[in-house]
Amino acid sequence: MTGPIPMADLTAHRAVIGADIDRRMAAVLDHGRWIMGPEVTEFEAAAVAYIGDPTISAVACANGTDALVLAFAALGLQPGQAVICPSFTFVATAEAVATLGGIPIFAEVGEEEFNLSANGVRLAHKTATEAGHKVVGICSVDLFGAPAPLSELSPLAESLGCWLVSDGAQSFGAESGGVRTGALAEVTTTSFFPAKPLGCYGDGGMVFARDHAVADAMRSLRVHGKGSHKYDNVRVGQNSRLDTLQAAVLLAKLDHLDTELAGRRRVAARYDAGLSDAPGVLEQPLVRSGDSSAWAQYTVVHRDRDGLHAALHAAGIDSAIYYPRPLHRQPAYEHFHLMDADLGRTDRLSRHVLSLPMHPYLRDDQIDRVIETVRSVP
Ligand SMILES: *Cc1c(COP(=O)(O)O)cnc(C)c1O
Repeated sequence: MTGPIPMADLTAHRAVIGADIDRRMAAVLDHGRWIMGPEVTEFEAAAVAYIGDPTISAVACANGTDALVLAFAALGLQPGQAVICPSFTFVATAEAVATLGGIPIFAEVGEEEFNLSANGVRLAHKTATEAGHKVVGICSVDLFGAPAPLSELSPLAESLGCWLVSDGAQSFGAESGGVRTGALAEVTTTSFFPAKPLGCYGDGGMVFARDHAVADAMRSLRVHGKGSHKYDNVRVGQNSRLDTLQAAVLLAKLDHLDTELAGRRRVAARYDAGLSDAPGVLEQPLVRSGDSSAWAQYTVVHRDRDGLHAALHAAGIDSAIYYPRPLHRQPAYEHFHLMDADLGRTDRLSRHVLSLPMHPYLRDDQIDRVIETVRSVP
């Protein structure tokens, strides 16, 4: 079969669960409690039930960037304090640090993966400390949906006297050792931007926290730092609530998430097999043993990335570069970079990564067309 193959299909799910979503939304249209309506609390409870750890609190908010800002603020990040994060990530990770006046310290990713490594964190911590920075936290990212090595990073953070936030914007539904994202770290943020594994019909986000005091602080911060009531302001906060309508969409879509994740895993497994000996492919995405990815993206490292991008385009197949310029080379962030921190792999990845079409409704014949085209580019 021919015809264009898009990166993602944000409406295909409507043929399967559109009626459930519309029914949920219609209930909101009838009750009219647009802000912090009952669906928001219901969705927070459903998200905790989904991750399967009732000791964790979920705090819904306006988007995945705010989720990071709320988490850092609740953990007490002060202006001038430093937070270690990857440079190979979406800008929001470092932006949330800088928004609060903090200093992002860019660390290297692991040799065979796209996520922060313990060695990268150790080196960044040493370099930053020697440069006079006070490092208070670490923010790892589950890039493309694969869990970062939290079983190494969490004890490392503790030994360095740092808190750890897991930016799970791309990994809701992923697992490590049978534990789902959200329950893998003390604090985990996520995003419900439409293109993420669990997407709503606009912007949405959430923070998971094991410490109830941290969760309570975030519930206050998301409503202007409210105290016991709205017009009692005990801290400087922001306006960052999840719309009731988005919570309604998410409640309906959450019921279907495992089916969609299975669809993404099917696509990834077919790419894995079909591309294992493709001549130009230097790396396929690594998922650590015992982990499962939410497969937000299927990203290969290719010898001739730009040639591959062009060949796919000519064949009517969309692909995307996440991310073409690492954060330590972005005009707004390069001044944070400590010169002697070597980010060689990050730089190489930015030149060689390409993400292929990935969504649960891709057909096998479409996947095979992508594979065939990738295999044709040395
Ligand atoms: C998407 C994303 C965010 C931000 O989420 P928004 O909901 O778009 O604000 C943060 N971090 C990472 C790694 C992301 O991919």
